[in-house]
Amino acid sequence: MPATASPAQSSASDVAVRHDWKRSEIDALFALPFNDLLFQAASVHRAHFDPNAVQVSTLLSIKTGACPEDCKYCSQSGHYNTELEKEKLLEVARVVEEAQAARDKGASRFCMGAAWRSPRDKDMPYVLDMVRQVKSLGLETCMTLGMLDQGQAEALADAGLDYYNHNLDTSPEYYGQVITTRTYNDRLSTLANVRDAGMKVCCGGIVGMGEQRDDRVGLLQQLANLPHHPESVPINMLVKIEGTPLADVDDLDPFEFVRTVAVARILMPESYVRLSAGRQEMNDEAQALCFLAGANSIFYGERLLTTDNPEASHDKQLFNRLGIHPLDLRHEASDEAHEEVIKAQVAEQQAEDAGLFYNAMAQSEGGKRPAKHVLDKDTGRPAATEH
Ligand code: SF4
Repeated sequence: MPATASPAQSSASDVAVRHDWKRSEIDALFALPFNDLLFQAASVHRAHFDPNAVQVSTLLSIKTGACPEDCKYCSQSGHYNTELEKEKLLEVARVVEEAQAARDKGASRFCMGAAWRSPRDKDMPYVLDMVRQVKSLGLETCMTLGMLDQGQAEALADAGLDYYNHNLDTSPEYYGQVITTRTYNDRLSTLANVRDAGMKVCCGGIVGMGEQRDDRVGLLQQLANLPHHPESVPINMLVKIEGTPLADVDDLDPFEFVRTVAVARILMPESYVRLSAGRQEMNDEAQALCFLAGANSIFYGERLLTTDNPEASHDKQLFNRLGIHPLDLRHEASDEAHEEVIKAQVAEQQAEDAGLFYNAMAQSEGGKRPAKHVLDKDTGRPAATEH
């Protein structure tokens, strides 16, 4: 046992929520010995979340392919021949059916993605109807529809959309190598419109696109220095698609991917860090390291928009092997409501009994009850420790 704690150990759990991260500080985190970095990330994770709970979302493509944008990684871009089968906007009833099935399989959030530059006016009524109907199933709703102006963001928020996904993808410096049809600032404006409308933000990036570590540092710095951290931060590993310009890019070292997850966890301690695309190509051991590094959200189901995702049954087995349980926000919320009812009944009973019996609870152990985590209704995180 060393006599003094290493810098990684001493600063492990007291990392405050900050929005002023310097590049040099993020560089230094990436450069830590792997074990020190994971220890620090795991400690931050434990200070803010149940380390064995993973939030589970399901993603459905509601409009597939023929996208006018030129994202060099994407099978849905109309600029590349990826032999993807294109689909028009799905009917609302079909989307609701899929959402129901996802809910029955344990998803707590249903994400709907459309391959658009931005939604057209004529699409908006259908999209808003989808939000209302999926929400009425008791699921959290998330959409990714491209760029949004303020009016569109407000309409989605009014319909009850909980989250909007819009990724920054990579660092501002590398961005031009990946996309030329919209700017980094366009993306930041959409994120600001989503926030201003009162929705939660899902925003992350993709690694393994041929970028340098410096770009991964730059991406995480952008995310961590937003005025509010995204509630959900997807970290994607590039899925190489035949026909796209990034099809033959060199593989990223899986440990570098784990490092990226760990640094994201440290920089954004209260956000859900999501293992997104690329899990199919990762072995179970790498995924387990990501969970240890602070990833606490995954997409569940066999398809991720247009790319493969591990089979649901395999995910269940992996969760079992690791002792991880899915975080069910609906369940937690109903438990809270149930708890409130029970508390009210107990209070009523105590009022009736007052004067007849002494309060045994108050006499034992100084009246203390064991500490119990109360989950925040919006985030599912421990909001307070109730004594
Ligand atoms: S990532 Fe989105 S915006 Fe870019 S090409 Fe694909 S569907 Fe279009």
